[in-house]
Amino acid sequence: MPIKKLAQFLVLPELNILKVEKVHRAHIYHCEKARHFEYCPRCNTPSNVTYDHRTVLVRDEPIRRSQCLLKIKKRRLYCKQCRKPFTEPIDGIFKRQRSTQRFKRALTWGCTQMRSLKAVRENYQCSNSMIYTSVFSQLEIKLREYNNPWPKMIGVDEHFFTRRKGYAEFFTIFTDLKGHRVREAVFGRSKAEVLEKVKHISGRDNVEWVVMDLSETYRSITKELFPNAKRVADKFHVLRLLSPALRRRRIEITGDRRTLRIKRLLQKNRKDLSYFDRQDVDRWLSNYPELNLIYRFKEKLHELYRNTHPERAKLSFDRLILELGMTDIPELKTLRRTLISWKEEILNYFERRITNAMTEGFNRIASLVKNLGFGYRNENNYRLRFLTACAS
Ligand SMILES: [Zn+2]
Repeated sequence: MPIKKLAQFLVLPELNILKVEKVHRAHIYHCEKARHFEYCPRCNTPSNVTYDHRTVLVRDEPIRRSQCLLKIKKRRLYCKQCRKPFTEPIDGIFKRQRSTQRFKRALTWGCTQMRSLKAVRENYQCSNSMIYTSVFSQLEIKLREYNNPWPKMIGVDEHFFTRRKGYAEFFTIFTDLKGHRVREAVFGRSKAEVLEKVKHISGRDNVEWVVMDLSETYRSITKELFPNAKRVADKFHVLRLLSPALRRRRIEITGDRRTLRIKRLLQKNRKDLSYFDRQDVDRWLSNYPELNLIYRFKEKLHELYRNTHPERAKLSFDRLILELGMTDIPELKTLRRTLISWKEEILNYFERRITNAMTEGFNRIASLVKNLGFGYRNENNYRLRFLTACAS
């Protein structure tokens, strides 16, 4: 009996080994399936009438780095109902496949563990195209198992995919902020493209919160996709609204000197500066009234986010708009328009205090995935690879 168990370990559970042959570095296991009734795939009638035999060569997972091949003598049985023969199925091998599921799973494992495609190729002794097709079909199977409806809290963001024919192409990702994973990644960032690819996911009405950056496209996408959700503008994007203006104005004065001390001090949150640093900043800024004003409003944005109560936040938001209305610096006028247009989303933040930091973190994983694959040309393959890294 132990011999039989060993045989089952070497080949698939349903098969019996007839003989083992060694050719070069490969072991060929001649095997066949135990003879009993099989069910016709067309009409489900059991049959035990042998029609003829076919021999197939199927690749299996290597043992001790030597290739494993199963030479299976497959029985074809005759179905009296259909008056046609059919081939017996074997567990672990999909129909018309020349390698076992076990081998494909091993390849997928190898691709996630090994340093390079070459290492995988040598270890499993197969071609690049074999690796590609089997790995991506495995990932597809794995993702189909993971088919949840939309979660309650969603983050939306985009990341750069590749540059083709001079145009940058992007991926839009939807993250599950409570489950700490990516729910879906789709190629493209225009409204039509994104809606087309995510509309099949169920549970759109259950979404309660959506966090996103200040993008008009994402606002209209999420409005249509999640009608019952409250939209939240990401805190860090709002805080960064004045940074480009601040930078441009400073460069006009000091030139683009990267090691400048005042540059670092201006970028920092004033709350984190020491007393003397603060004095230095004020002294320097007193020579440049417009830059000074922009800097003060950057700090006011930080102050707005220090509010802990939604009502108080609303009051200080209104006050900020009022103060912005009294200046006539173009950058501040733009800021005022942006803030007014996003008022609802910005104030929603103070109800639950959720941010898109996790979504940005997944963008970082996305660039790691891209680098590990030395870039991707096919967006479907990239999507599968990225989702298997982040979706579970
Ligand atoms: Zn039949």
